[in-house]
Amino acid sequence: MTHIQNFINGAFCDGAEGKSFEKRSPLTNAVIATVAEAAKADVDAAVTSGRRALKGGWGKMELAARVALLNKVADEMDRRAEEFMAAEIADTGMPAGVARHMCARGAANFRIFADVVKNVPTEIFEMSTPDGRGALNYAIRRPVGVVGVVCPWNAPLLLMTWKVGPALACGNVVVVKPSEETPQTAALLGEVMKAVGVPDGVYNVVHGFGPGSTGEFLTTHPGVNAITFTGETRTGAAIMKAAADGARPVSLEMGGKNPGIIFADADLDAAIEGTLRSCFMNTGQVCLGTERVFVERPLFETFVAALKTAAEAMKLGEPYAPGVTMGPLISQEHRRKVLSYYAKAVEEGAKVVTGGGVPDMPEAYKGGAWVQPTVWTGLPDEAAVCREEIFGPCCHVSPFDSEDEVIERANAVQYGLSAAVWTRDLARAHRVAAEIEAGVVWVNSWFLRDLRTPFGGAKQSGIGREGGVHSLEFYTELKNVCIKL
Ligand code: NAD
Repeated sequence: MTHIQNFINGAFCDGAEGKSFEKRSPLTNAVIATVAEAAKADVDAAVTSGRRALKGGWGKMELAARVALLNKVADEMDRRAEEFMAAEIADTGMPAGVARHMCARGAANFRIFADVVKNVPTEIFEMSTPDGRGALNYAIRRPVGVVGVVCPWNAPLLLMTWKVGPALACGNVVVVKPSEETPQTAALLGEVMKAVGVPDGVYNVVHGFGPGSTGEFLTTHPGVNAITFTGETRTGAAIMKAAADGARPVSLEMGGKNPGIIFADADLDAAIEGTLRSCFMNTGQVCLGTERVFVERPLFETFVAALKTAAEAMKLGEPYAPGVTMGPLISQEHRRKVLSYYAKAVEEGAKVVTGGGVPDMPEAYKGGAWVQPTVWTGLPDEAAVCREEIFGPCCHVSPFDSEDEVIERANAVQYGLSAAVWTRDLARAHRVAAEIEAGVVWVNSWFLRDLRTPFGGAKQSGIGREGGVHSLEFYTELKNVCIKL
């Protein structure tokens, strides 16, 4: 059985208190690994080793050398892509095609930020002074220090490297707390860091849970200078409270209840294909996924029928099997949550267009966290199923009659992460995109990501923006130097 260890100061180790926990396969519910749980002393050792690296080789390394190392990390990840994929699939059960994409993005997250830091401009202001000699102001960027990185399980490698890439590129060191559900790729990345010569202490991984465990030890540690988090809004709020002690900055990427808006003039095939992906990709466990679909009334019946056909054509099964498009949910616990919403939708009066239950899987997979892709109609916007993030392969579809109406309804939730708008009317696309309360709006597409663009959530979906130069705002301190001439 695989045993996953912490990675502290360039070495793999068990927790100081000798504790470990089990990792189960989402496909079968069998135990596939034991994971060393980091104690307070381990988090402390990781933070201390990070501080040492900042004062030593990493802190003194020239930018060009740092950038070269990060590119080597990316190259080595690509070289070991099959291993990363296998680890990600073992932890999550996601189909191989999805895992391949996510692992490639993991490597890209190092390359893009290696490029960004090389090309970052600064600002200079000449000012006049009473003696007529003037002064010169210029701004320089310095690393923030030790960054605590707290990660979710839904796209483990992609989302972790989305933080670790820019943090390291800016000269910081990191202590990563992967989700307890997905420890493997973070550990594998430790091997890569070691292999390409990233100095010890720059990249640390501590495994464990949230409250009363590693997550809390990390986010309350006084030696952590900044905390970057992806996960549920409730957890983000708890982390913000922890960060208030010591007035440490936070970057929070949190939950969503994203709308897909289909106008009657949309390219129907593209809208169906895009909406289907946005509802069901990664078994609906995508923060940017669509759980509320609004369709302009003339198209409503046609769209629902097409979505039903497409949902029923999804193939659930073993990740490497040809044609499989959907895996299980991450865990039995998450499955219980999703199934409770499936039941609640019926209680609230939904019409179940398709799905709504548990699929009949082959004997070997009966213990896994499988659920059916599900489409509902007929609920009011106030229904819990239409307001709360479910994070499963499901969506509610409702008709609308006007642009103003759909904007108001799309905005009537606490979240504001992303939206997808489907229309051929260019002026309308601009109008609606401007009015939707979200950090990201796609028009006639979904999940089309240029990593240089700002990414983050509005309202309770996030605080701060990351991506391209926007990441530098969080991962560096901008310092003004004023020189009297
Ligand atoms: P989660 O909030 O349950 O856990 C995320 C991480 O926080 C885990 O590592 C967990 O151990 C840790 N944690 C939990 N409580 C903590 C505490 N009190 N202190 C410190 N650490 C703590 O989220 P999840 O279930 O792993 O992920 C799913 C959620 O993530 C969904 O809400 C989804 O929308 C969101 N998400 C958002 C984005 C985005 O970019 N906005 C991306 C992916 C996922």
